[in-house]
Amino acid sequence: MRVYLDNAATTMTDPRAVRKMLPYYLKKYGNPSSLHSFGREAEAAVDGARETIAKAFGASTHEIVFTGSGSEADNLALRGALAASKRNELVVSEIEHPAVLRTADVLERAGVKVRRAGVDAEGTVLLDELAGLVSKRTALVSVMHANNEVGTIQPIREIAGICRDAGALFHTDAVQSFGKIPVSAKQADMITVSSHKIHGPKGVGALFVREGVPLSPVITGGAHEFGKRAGTENVPGIVGFGEAVFLSQKYLKANARKMARLRDKLVRRALEIPDSWLNGHAKNRLPNNAHFGFDFVEGEALVLRLDARGVAASTGSACSSQSLEPSHVLLAMGLSHVKAHGSLRMTLSKFTTEKEVDYVASVLPKTIAALRDISSLSAENAGSYRALTGVRK
Ligand SMILES: *Cc1c(COP(=O)(O)O)cnc(C)c1O
Repeated sequence: MRVYLDNAATTMTDPRAVRKMLPYYLKKYGNPSSLHSFGREAEAAVDGARETIAKAFGASTHEIVFTGSGSEADNLALRGALAASKRNELVVSEIEHPAVLRTADVLERAGVKVRRAGVDAEGTVLLDELAGLVSKRTALVSVMHANNEVGTIQPIREIAGICRDAGALFHTDAVQSFGKIPVSAKQADMITVSSHKIHGPKGVGALFVREGVPLSPVITGGAHEFGKRAGTENVPGIVGFGEAVFLSQKYLKANARKMARLRDKLVRRALEIPDSWLNGHAKNRLPNNAHFGFDFVEGEALVLRLDARGVAASTGSACSSQSLEPSHVLLAMGLSHVKAHGSLRMTLSKFTTEKEVDYVASVLPKTIAALRDISSLSAENAGSYRALTGVRK
C-alpha cells in the first residue's frame, strides 16, 4: 500500500482540473494579450478563473493578481508594500513560511526595520506582543492564516484590528487554509494563495490586493495583471487553479468534516504510542493537519522508515526538511532541540481514505518501536545520553 500524507507540501492534481487545462495547451494556446480569436479565448479563460477566485474571497476580479507561486505572491506583498510605503517597518511572526521570513531578512539587510512576534506553546501568535510591535511607523504586518507545519489557525481578525488602529496594512499567507476553511477578503488587505496546495497545478499562485492598497510591482515589464505583475499569464495553470478553487469551495464543509474525522482517528491511534504528544493547537487547527512529537526517535529516520513501508510523511515543512536544523516553528513554540527533532507531520487531503488511515495507524507504532530499539536515545540509554551530551530531554 502507498499512502500520501504530505498534503501540506503539495497535493495530487485533481483530474477534473487537469481535464480543464488540456485544451489550453493543445488548441486554445493563444496569448491573452493578443487581439485575435486565439488570444481572446485565452483571455476569457483567465478572466473566468479570476472570477472564480474573486468569488471565493468575496472580492472583485481586479483585486486578484495571478503569480507564479505562493512564494512569489508573498514576495510581492512584502516587497511591493514596503517599496510603495512612506513607512519603513515590517512586522512578521516567528513562525511564518520561509517565503515571508527570508524575504523579511532580505528587506532588513536593505534597511527595513523588521520586528518579529513570538508564539505560545500551541503556536498561536502572542497578540499583546504583536500589538506592542505595531506602530505608526509600521508599513505592513504579515501573519499567516494557518501554519504549514503544526496547523495552528491564527487570530487574524484580532491582528487585522491591531493593524487598522495603527494605519498599517495587513497581509496574511492563507496558502494552507484556503480551500479548507473559509477565507475572506474582509480578513486582510492582501491574501496569498497557491494552486498546488489545493489540488491545482504547481507553479501558480495569486495575491488578493484590496482596491486602493499601494503596491509596487516586483516583476516589471508589460502591463499584465493590472500593472502589478508582468509576464504572460500561465493560462493552463490558471485554468487548473480556477477549477481547483471552484471544487474546493463547492465541497469545503464536506471535505473538511471528512478530513477532520480521519485526522482525529489518526491522532487517537498515534497518541496511544508511549512518549508521544500532539504539536499545535488541539482545536484551533487545520482539519487535515496532525503533527506529532515522539521521544527517543529522530524525525528524519522515522520519515525514511515510513517511506519504506509506503507511507509518505514529513518532519515539518518541505522547505526545511533538507537541512538538519530543527524547525523554526517548533523552536518558537518553546520545544527543545531534542524534542523538536522527534517530530512527524501527517497531512491528509480530500482523497485520503479510511483504509489508508487504518494502515498508517497500524504501521506507525511498529516503526517507532523498531527505531527506539536501535536508538541511542532510547529510554534505557537516556541517562548515559545526557551524561555524554549534556542535553536534557
Ligand atoms: C507552500 C507554501 C507557500 C509557498 O507556496 P508555493 O506555491 O509552493 O511557492 C507559502 N506559504 C505557505 C504557508 C505554504 O504552505
